[in-house]
Amino acid sequence: MSTGKAAVFFGPGRPFEIREFALPEVEPDAVLIRVSLANVCGSDLHFWRGDAPLRLPPDGWIYGHEMTGRVAALGARVKTDSLGRPLKEGDRVAYTYFYPCGRCHACLENQPAACPAKIERPLGPSQFPHFHGAFAEYYYLRPRGAIFLVPDSLPDALVAPVNCALSQVIFGLGRAGLRFGDSVVIQGAGGLGIQAAAVAKDMGAATVIVIDQLASRLELARAFGADHTIDIKEVTDRRERVNLVRKWTGGVGAAVACDFVGFPQVIAEGIEMLRSGGTYLEIGTISRGAKVELEPSLLVWGSKTIVGVIQYDPGTIARALDFLVRNRARWPFDRLISHTYPLEKINQAFADSEWHAKETTSITRAALAP
Ligand SMILES: [Zn+2]
Ligand SMILES: [Zn+2]
Repeated sequence: MSTGKAAVFFGPGRPFEIREFALPEVEPDAVLIRVSLANVCGSDLHFWRGDAPLRLPPDGWIYGHEMTGRVAALGARVKTDSLGRPLKEGDRVAYTYFYPCGRCHACLENQPAACPAKIERPLGPSQFPHFHGAFAEYYYLRPRGAIFLVPDSLPDALVAPVNCALSQVIFGLGRAGLRFGDSVVIQGAGGLGIQAAAVAKDMGAATVIVIDQLASRLELARAFGADHTIDIKEVTDRRERVNLVRKWTGGVGAAVACDFVGFPQVIAEGIEMLRSGGTYLEIGTISRGAKVELEPSLLVWGSKTIVGVIQYDPGTIARALDFLVRNRARWPFDRLISHTYPLEKINQAFADSEWHAKETTSITRAALAP
């Protein structure tokens, strides 16, 4: 064990190339992880497509973030996971891929998820610690990275989305103030929206309404706890959709509505679906430059709040793992990943994901098994 393979990205429209790199010397507070499963996430597709400007290092970029693996080497000072449980080589783990700095304003206010420095600009694989992302045989968890033992009862396929979609959704719904007995509107039934339906039910939501334009995704949303679904292709009139939400929420509108779509056009409609005093959770629209037209007086007269969230406080991962253990039999989590590819087939995995994102089908994530 002295080198590892990685898929290097050289920019939109260019194929990933499989290269081999020396394994890094593990710093005292770091952990080297042997990646067992890495998912292709919606945001990975954004970079791949070239939706957002990206300055890549000349030697390329190893990226990807939704993953799980086993401890390959522990730094000299790492004896336990982040919850104080003994950690050893070979243990299955879930972990963050971002590193709140601990010294900025947000960090000092105990808001690590809001740390503007928690994600570095892309580093090339020639730079230490070489293994910067999930699409590789190894991932280097830097000092300050949070790491959690994975319960034996959870298979890798369930754990891989924990450090992205699932933790993001749990943290976001918490930040939106979702409470027992609330009603929730979820716009978009992709990986995030589907898991949000289940998390909202587990948090005690009385009514969960999911909106999408693909019947197969809405069927999946119902399997994950949605009480009602709206197919935009069937209910084409916006006012009619808002009225349906009112009807299913006792005439008042939802306490929380969430953008898991990624197209800002849906935001005004989601805000309209809120009850007076409700909160709109913005997670989906990550592309910079996307704009939306809003009537601010609707926020003022409706006493509505908009909350933006990117990633989560690292401790959320432990709650996400507990959620899966608690609800594993309740919802069909194994339906969330429908195809697994070897690392060498990463170009096909991306192409297939792109196709599936556009067409009607059951795939919500492709997974690489490096
Ligand atoms: Zn992700
Ligand atoms: Zn910080």
